[in-house]
Amino acid sequence: MLKETKVYSYICDKCKKESSDEEDNVGWNDKEYAWECAEEMGWAEIDHSHYCSNCWEHDDDDNQVVRRDAE
Ligand SMILES: [Zn+2]
Repeated sequence: MLKETKVYSYICDKCKKESSDEEDNVGWNDKEYAWECAEEMGWAEIDHSHYCSNCWEHDDDDNQVVRRDAE
C-alpha cells in the first residue's frame, strides 16, 4: 500500500539553500529531527529565522549573527 507522508526541511533565510539538499535527502518527517540534522550541519536559528552554516558567524562578543554580505 501507499502512504503519503509530509516531510520537513529548513530553508536558509539568507541564501535559500535547503537543509535537505546538503544531506542529499528530500526532507525529514519529524520537524525536530529535521532541525537536529540542520544543527549538526552547522545551521543556526537567529531571531526565529534559520541560517545555513555559510550565512551566520560569531561576532566579537560570541553572539550568533547573520553574516553580512561582502561588498
Ligand atoms: Zn545560507
